[in-house]
Amino acid sequence: MEYSIQEASELLSIPIQKLRRWDEQGVLVALRTSGGHRRYSRELIDRLAASGFGATADKTSQELATVKRALAEKRRIIQLLLESENRYRDLVETSHDLIWATDAEGRFTYLNTAAYDIFGLAPKDLIGRCFFNFEAGAAHVGNRRFLATLRRKGEVKNYVTHVLTTDGENRWIGINARLTNDDLGEPLGIRGTARDITEQHVATQRIEHLALHDPLTDLPNRHSLQIGIEAAMQDSSVGALLFIDIDHFKYVNDNFGHRAGDQLIIGVGSVLREVVRGCGGEVYRLGGDEFAIHLPEALRKQANHAAELALDAVRHYRFQASEQRVVSNLSASIGIALYPFHGSDVPSLFSNVDIAMYQAKELGRNRHMVFDQASDNLRSTHKRVHWAKRIRDALDDDRITLFAQPVVRLKDQKAMHHEVLVRLRDDQGGFILPSTFIEIAESLSLVQELDLQVVEKLLAFMREHNQVGKKLRYFVNLSRVSIADPHWVKRLMSLLTATQVDPTQLVFEITETAAMSEIDVTLSFINRLKDIGCRFALDDFGAGFSSFYYLKRFEVDYLKIDGSFIRDLATDEGSRLFVRALNDVARGLSKQVVAEWVESPEALKLLVEMGAQYGQGYIFRKPMPIADTVRAATNRLLRAKAG
Ligand code: C2E
Ligand code: CA
Ligand code: CA
Repeated sequence: MEYSIQEASELLSIPIQKLRRWDEQGVLVALRTSGGHRRYSRELIDRLAASGFGATADKTSQELATVKRALAEKRRIIQLLLESENRYRDLVETSHDLIWATDAEGRFTYLNTAAYDIFGLAPKDLIGRCFFNFEAGAAHVGNRRFLATLRRKGEVKNYVTHVLTTDGENRWIGINARLTNDDLGEPLGIRGTARDITEQHVATQRIEHLALHDPLTDLPNRHSLQIGIEAAMQDSSVGALLFIDIDHFKYVNDNFGHRAGDQLIIGVGSVLREVVRGCGGEVYRLGGDEFAIHLPEALRKQANHAAELALDAVRHYRFQASEQRVVSNLSASIGIALYPFHGSDVPSLFSNVDIAMYQAKELGRNRHMVFDQASDNLRSTHKRVHWAKRIRDALDDDRITLFAQPVVRLKDQKAMHHEVLVRLRDDQGGFILPSTFIEIAESLSLVQELDLQVVEKLLAFMREHNQVGKKLRYFVNLSRVSIADPHWVKRLMSLLTATQVDPTQLVFEITETAAMSEIDVTLSFINRLKDIGCRFALDDFGAGFSSFYYLKRFEVDYLKIDGSFIRDLATDEGSRLFVRALNDVARGLSKQVVAEWVESPEALKLLVEMGAQYGQGYIFRKPMPIADTVRAATNRLLRAKAG
């Protein structure tokens, strides 16, 4: 018996077409009936069916299909990979960053075209060379360190090095690098990127330079000096620090303008640089007309020698201030401090060298002084230096503040005028009284600037408060030092003539002592300002010479009786006699009297009886910021508590 093809197909679960094909291919040959139909031996088919032939065949074809699918997938992936590699290569080739790889010895095996920008050579000309063939400046040391770190850590990021291109151009490049190893961990090479950061680097350097240098002279600045001294002190070595202050620099600045002043500073800077070249030190500009010289390892002898050379150089320096004028015979004052002897930290060394410099100035300028710990006047110098700084800072930082106190007409107790009293605003928002600093400002020639700023501020205030009326007068204190300085008088005159403020509203106060000490100077000053309409008061009268004779010569409008007489008026017979006599003389000379320090109702009553015209004192009002005082006076009449 035989099976038909249908039966065989069913038994073996193989499609009929497949059996036909197998028959044709001779895989499973069928018998034929006379009619040509395929027949299969029963025995064979049953055995095949029992051995699971059909299933195996099916499995084979299934496996075949899986393999085929896998192959197709692989082809697709390869296609993708190829595409992405092309894309990747494009990226690498056209990248602005350098992409590079080296062998284990650090020799380039691959570079993209950015190599040209960094080294000035095409990639092919760089193969076999290495980064360090191009190292420039002091890059060598850093580069070795970079390699060591790379070996240790396997990766370094943002390493900056300095290279020189084949055209001799300086380049700074930032490098990221990673070590590549084989399966056994042996280094195969280095791979990484690099970028030309020359522009950034130059900009950063420029900023660093600016932070450490004075823009005018390009000399290193105070900050740079601090760093230098700190480093030297840490090496526990010795050395000398010189502070150099150009005497009368302000004169040049004021007479020939800031541009000439700047030129002078530049000139002196280069002269000092020349001096220091021979001494093995460095020159710094600290600001204004102050320079410093740092002499590492120098002792007293070398420091004195350098100071003498510097003084000499400054003295011989000639400066073309304008087309017609040459400034020569400049001088300087130099303070010297030696570390660690005169200070083992920067602040104390700076403060002591400052003191030495002021001592040199006080001893008559054009000299140098080594800081002297034992000096008798050290303490007072300390105090003076401290105040000199504070006053200077206050002038520079616009912390000069005007207070005012009303000058009251006694007959009706009306605030007619105001005395302007200066204060320095301190860091805590408090006000420092002039008794603390005026004397020091006078001895250090800072009072001129102070007096001028007071006048400037007052003029500005008056311009704003015009509506107060012409009758109101402002009394302004001037120092003897200011009015004795012809240059200062010139500046005051130009201030007053340039302003729209009415000069007749200004009353300048000069103390009696000041007026008497240089009578001619005072007289010529008074006359010049009287010409433009200003008025004058003789301040603190009675405290000094009290010369009634000279009263006639000074054409002042007001006499201000020193407060010590007024305060004691009710209790002291002598004071009463003096004040009464003074009142009579003043009236005879047609001068108005102002009594200061009116504190008590008794004193006020006595003054009214004596016929004194004006009074000033706590009984009326304490000094207050000028705007407050003037507002209070215009708003209402002041009512004193007269008995
Ligand atoms: P001064 O010109 O004699 O000014 C009067 C001083 O007496 C002021 O002191 C004022 O606050 C104080 N005073 C007012 N009423 C009374 C009172 O009833 N009793 C007492 N015990 N004192 C009273 P202040 O403001 O401390 O000024 C002190 C000195 O500083 C002034 O004396 C003046 O010589 C000077 N000064 C003030 N401002 C300036 C200025 O702008 N330039 C200059 N060069 N010197 C100034
Ligand atoms: Ca005064
Ligand atoms: Ca006074």
